[in-house]
Amino acid sequence: MPTALITGIAGQDGSYLAELLLSKGYRVLGIDHLSSIATYEHLKHFQDDLTLLEGDLLDQGSLVAILEQYSPDEVYNFAALSFPEGSWSRPVVTGDITALGVTRMLEAIRLVCPKARFYQASSSEMFGVVREVPQTENTPFYPRNPYGVAKVYGHWITVTYREMHQIFACSGILYNHESPRRGLQYVTRKITHGAARIKLGLADEIRLGNLDARRDWGYAGDYVEAMWGMLQQDQPDDYVVCTGETHSVREFCEAAFSHVGLNYQDYVVQDERFYRPAEAKLLVGNPEKTQTKLGWKPRVSFEELVTMMVDFDLQYLGKEIL
Ligand code: GDP
Repeated sequence: MPTALITGIAGQDGSYLAELLLSKGYRVLGIDHLSSIATYEHLKHFQDDLTLLEGDLLDQGSLVAILEQYSPDEVYNFAALSFPEGSWSRPVVTGDITALGVTRMLEAIRLVCPKARFYQASSSEMFGVVREVPQTENTPFYPRNPYGVAKVYGHWITVTYREMHQIFACSGILYNHESPRRGLQYVTRKITHGAARIKLGLADEIRLGNLDARRDWGYAGDYVEAMWGMLQQDQPDDYVVCTGETHSVREFCEAAFSHVGLNYQDYVVQDERFYRPAEAKLLVGNPEKTQTKLGWKPRVSFEELVTMMVDFDLQYLGKEIL
């Protein structure tokens, strides 16, 4: 039975990946902040199948101890302060966890179990002020916030350990990927949760920023399959994971509200507070390498993603008011 360690297991991607690996017969170990694990929100339906450990990317010794005890075959690193806009309020700690944390884990792997395969969760935020459209694995980075800068460091230290220490280390450059487990601070879940609240009579408006902003949005459940696929190849490499399609925030609103029989224009209020000082421009990826080399394709379409999220929020909020 192969063993996998997932950092940030309590988050959206960690929980989907844990389910995927369990279905493939892995023993799954996870670390996360105690406060996230305590709520178990995304893990509660299968928490007994996991081994949850205390560890921290700020604490090298904790990583070494875990690797010595369990000697995992695969390590997936999701632990990060993961909200790009939020990184402005904690730029230094963002660097410590999201950037240096990657080195701490890679160094622990090099010292304890150099044969372990490593996945680094990189991000399209690294492209920021995009240098070309669409972006590929070779597009130069130009991040626009502390999160993006920290992720660029994480990407390059992953490449460096691969090339200089022969660690099987892969960097997955993922575009926005959403699901019913997405945090409410992200625009997609804010919209689906808001539309469901309005439908149920719990609210009468939602306040948003730039409705013309566009993103390449995919389904997190599909994207974790690409991550696993990267670690099953003969050679480690970097991959852009995306749909190659963009939609605007406005289109997301239209789809979400029309799914519950409403017109978004009656409920969406634009509010200066939610505009970005520096908006990332035309973030859209080219998924060709990932599709060709891994044989990966997203299964869930944009419309299916929106309806899945709205249906979940309707059900979730519906239970709360019963
Ligand atoms: P990320 O910034 O790409 O990680 O993802 P978000 O979901 O936070 O934002 C996606 C896009 O939605 C950005 O271009 C935002 O400017 C836009 N947006 C418009 N209104 C809002 C809002 O109320 N909240 C958030 N988070 N984003 C918004």
